[in-house]
Amino acid sequence: MKNATASFLIVASLLTILGCKKDTPKEPYKPYQYSAPYNVAPCFEKYIVELEKQGNLRGKNLDFKKNGISVQTISAKQMNEVAPGAWGIGSYTHGAPDIAILESLCTDDTTYSLSLEKLIFHEYGHSGLHRNHLCGVKGDGFAESIMYGTLGNPSTKACSYGITDDYVNQRSYYLDELFKSIPDSLLVFF
Ligand SMILES: [Zn+2]
Repeated sequence: MKNATASFLIVASLLTILGCKKDTPKEPYKPYQYSAPYNVAPCFEKYIVELEKQGNLRGKNLDFKKNGISVQTISAKQMNEVAPGAWGIGSYTHGAPDIAILESLCTDDTTYSLSLEKLIFHEYGHSGLHRNHLCGVKGDGFAESIMYGTLGNPSTKACSYGITDDYVNQRSYYLDELFKSIPDSLLVFF
């Protein structure tokens, strides 16, 4: 119970910090309703299946159905309260990766979107691998990591605007880098 209370206070503090970018949220933000071992919105499931596959190809032992993951939608209004301008949030607060993606990106589109994959994998970097943002640029001028991010306050290591990736052509590189990197021990990012 003490741990639960402490976790709540830590999350509440972080959300307050994040929310202070504009107005303080009027209502507590509750995206972290982790309620099932595997709680993935159907529109995002194919990306989680692919994430599991790519991680396991790189020596990870991912089994989200066994070990748990939550990938749910968040309304634009809620997102604007906690992380204005963000498309997704990744956290690790209930013993398993917890991801919230803008509901407008949850469609019944049968095509596989690499940009949505990149977003979800980035949030997994925060929530599942406990990684912070990484702002470096490699020799060809593209971001060195899928974990670059241009939003946030200093605690989330927001990167300079203008950093871009070459995810379509260098996907294997970015996935290798995602899974091989040493994690930071932080809780909430977007
Ligand atoms: Zn991020």
